[in-house]
Amino acid sequence: MMLDVENALALTLALVQRLEPIEVALSGCLGKVLAEEVRADTDMPAFHRARVDGYALRAMDVQKAPAVLEVIEEIPAGGMPPRSVGRGQAAKIMTGAPLPEGADTVQWLEKTRPRSDGKVEILEPLGPGENIGYRGEEVKHGDVVLPAGQYVAPAQVGVLAMFGTARVKVYRAPRIALLSTGDELVEVDQQPTGAQIRDTNTHALGVAVKAMGAEAISLGIARDNPVELREKIRSALSADLVLISGGASVGEYDLVKGTLRELGAVVHYDRVAIKPGKPTIFATHGSTVIFGLPGNPVSSLTIFEVLVRPVIRKMMGFQRLHNPTVRAALGQPLPHKPGRQSYHPAWIESQGDGLIVTPLPSRGSSDLVAYSKSNSLLIVPKEASRLEAGVTVEVLLRDEFFQRGHP
Ligand code: AMP
Ligand code: MG
Repeated sequence: MMLDVENALALTLALVQRLEPIEVALSGCLGKVLAEEVRADTDMPAFHRARVDGYALRAMDVQKAPAVLEVIEEIPAGGMPPRSVGRGQAAKIMTGAPLPEGADTVQWLEKTRPRSDGKVEILEPLGPGENIGYRGEEVKHGDVVLPAGQYVAPAQVGVLAMFGTARVKVYRAPRIALLSTGDELVEVDQQPTGAQIRDTNTHALGVAVKAMGAEAISLGIARDNPVELREKIRSALSADLVLISGGASVGEYDLVKGTLRELGAVVHYDRVAIKPGKPTIFATHGSTVIFGLPGNPVSSLTIFEVLVRPVIRKMMGFQRLHNPTVRAALGQPLPHKPGRQSYHPAWIESQGDGLIVTPLPSRGSSDLVAYSKSNSLLIVPKEASRLEAGVTVEVLLRDEFFQRGHP
């Protein structure tokens, strides 16, 4: 059955479940999604504190600046001030240190001058409440500081630490089994002879999976031999997700679909109206989700971006499943044959006050070197024919867009 991209995505995602929550240490939650909300175990700030280095004093005493004040103590961050600041007095205070009783403002150190007799001269007046962080002004004890469903980036790790959450529940990332198929494939450290080629997909897909925070289990290469293929796939079925590359089309040695059926998997579709990547198989076996990806490296990576990444994100509890798409002006004309929605390797960048996208020259779905120069995929709608320069097109941003500068 051949599905449009949109229908294939909808059918696929409908059959994928979010995985269960697990508890992890702070160091293990980056890139995951919170399965519980986190509340503040304290006010923040937890006490009135100085926002700057300077002198805590009473604003009334410095209305007529310069004014000379007695320095009664020095309050470092981490110390509790034992004394109260009275009329005509000041306490030297460091950023983050608690405001002493009696003081109602903090003058910047730069606006003061110490005197040889131990007193301090306040050079400028200031109002009450300056340079003070009041208790609870940022967050109140019991407030939700991180909602369930929140993606954990470094700032969220900081928030967890701030409120003493050393362990937290996140949705488990999938265990993903990777299998390359093909009699022609040899390992990366082998010298191909005759018509052999090196296995590319296990490596590219393996790191793509790991970069998402999922676990990659490499099952290596299976020959185009029904028995070997069946045993390798069978051993993969305990994973959450199985990515098989090669053997997905209709050639005599394309055994993946038949083998999946023999093993009791349900094949939901075996072709998608997408270019590249038409021979894509999607199957399930119990709760295990299986993709048969086309063997050409650009095809398998494109299908990874369009179909597999959203599946992994759904398993991980993400609400937004897709990488962002943006609209950009096409930098040069692009021929297109109507019939399949195309994803063309492209370079997108800002130019003037907009975005411009340039399709990169490519020899097609085997041309991984061309693809490796791209930071995005230019989406050409199914029915479109030639696109003229300057028209607005949709562009799928890949991680490379955020990671890389200009070539
Ligand atoms: P297939 O989908 O098995 O018909 O393979 C399509 C093309 O992709 C063929 O040229 C294969 O040699 C190539 N191919 C298949 N698997 C891989 C792989 N793991 N790494 C690199 N190329 C592959
Ligand atoms: Mg093959």
